[in-house]
Amino acid sequence: MTTLADPVPGGRPGDVERATALSAELTGRGVHGVVLSYVDTAGIGRVKTVPTAKLAAAAAWGVGMSPVFDTFLADDSIVTTDVLGSPDGDLRLYPDLDRLAVLAGQPGWAWAPVDRITQEGEPHPGCGRTVLRRIVADAAERHGVTFRAAIEIEWAVGRGDRPGGAFVPAVTGPAYGAVRQVESSDYAADLLAALAAQGVDVEQLHPEYAPGQFEVSVGALDPVAAADRSVLVRQTIRAVAIRHGLAVSFSPAVLGQGVGNGGHLHLSAWRDGVNLHSGGGRRYGMTAEAESFTAGVLARLPALLAVTAPSPASYLRLRPSQWAGVFTVWGRETREAAVRIVTGTTGQRERAANLEVKPVDLAANPYLALACVIAAGLDGLTSSAALPDEVTGDPVRLAAAEAAARGVRRLPASLAESVAEFREDEVVRAALGPVLADAVIAVREGEIAAADGLDDDGVAAAYRWKY
Ligand code: GLU
Ligand code: MG
Repeated sequence: MTTLADPVPGGRPGDVERATALSAELTGRGVHGVVLSYVDTAGIGRVKTVPTAKLAAAAAWGVGMSPVFDTFLADDSIVTTDVLGSPDGDLRLYPDLDRLAVLAGQPGWAWAPVDRITQEGEPHPGCGRTVLRRIVADAAERHGVTFRAAIEIEWAVGRGDRPGGAFVPAVTGPAYGAVRQVESSDYAADLLAALAAQGVDVEQLHPEYAPGQFEVSVGALDPVAAADRSVLVRQTIRAVAIRHGLAVSFSPAVLGQGVGNGGHLHLSAWRDGVNLHSGGGRRYGMTAEAESFTAGVLARLPALLAVTAPSPASYLRLRPSQWAGVFTVWGRETREAAVRIVTGTTGQRERAANLEVKPVDLAANPYLALACVIAAGLDGLTSSAALPDEVTGDPVRLAAAEAAARGVRRLPASLAESVAEFREDEVVRAALGPVLADAVIAVREGEIAAADGLDDDGVAAAYRWKY
């Protein structure tokens, strides 16, 4: 389990001694520097690094970084809110030593996610990892509910020279194809080795549908660790690719048309060590609480999209019949439903049953995405929300009258629509707190303005190499 304690000036109890020992051990293993990593509101990974010898100092006093990054856009321009975006101020970045990994794809480096606090030792309200830690701690304390989560990762592998900024697939074989597996053999084997060396338990790796696309799925962890792992796995996929002369894109839409890169989010709620999504008396073995949790997520998806699909490029992916789940429906193993119920196979259900939220991509800050999805689900659980009827097949085929009668809605088709929904959703905004909720609105509006006037190919090109 992830430590849910906030960092404190001087270091969390025991951390300085631990970091001192770690830094000696890492130096002995040829590690020269540690990457301190977080994800900003726009979904861009931001880092500072310290020499390995400074790890104990970082564990004690943190490393400085401006809060201005909370309102950076993907193109590094800056917007402002009442509180954020000013050139003033400084924050301290504290590594979570439990999550430190020696980077097998980047010899000489280790990596750790950070929490950010103020110079006065207060949690920084813009820190997404802190927000998620608190939501998870609060759910355990107030509701006796814990979670297991995993984020699937899809990415496109292109030629490393990126001619003119273009994406040229580095492999040509078909979707799920043996040809593509052979073409990518050395890269994929090195990637599996690197992930294993970093303690990432990979479930599977396969060639995906879109040109040059692959997917990796990993085992479930507590939500904070799952978000950390999502960042670490992407860092590793990119690092191994660069060593093979390849370029990777996690952008929701690498091209203006066609199937995009998803970041499907798997989540299960547990009480007293028992999976609420299995062994119950409701549909597909769900307990009443699991149904209500699922109903809560489903009902708030339009607003959640401002967090789970935060880029103008997200809406190139979120089109019907591309398995991205753009209708407010749920179904068992239904790949066009926004929420897919995964029961697992007989014999594995107690462990494996979960819900999969599909309109999530890898432009999303995974800490914020998990925080908001969990908050929506908990709101459903605590209000005993009713889960509507299941819809199977592709909802795009439903005639308008039937869709309306069954409560089936198309999810927002643009970032502007998602932001409008987010503004109206008290529960999702409250999950983030006012400072971060305002940052989400300001950053999304900044991205909308940045993409204004671009056609689909222009949007894809603008964000292709950002994520
Ligand atoms: N690439 C699809 C997406 O954009 C998902 C395909 C799948 O179900 O794995 O979400
Ligand atoms: Mg996939």
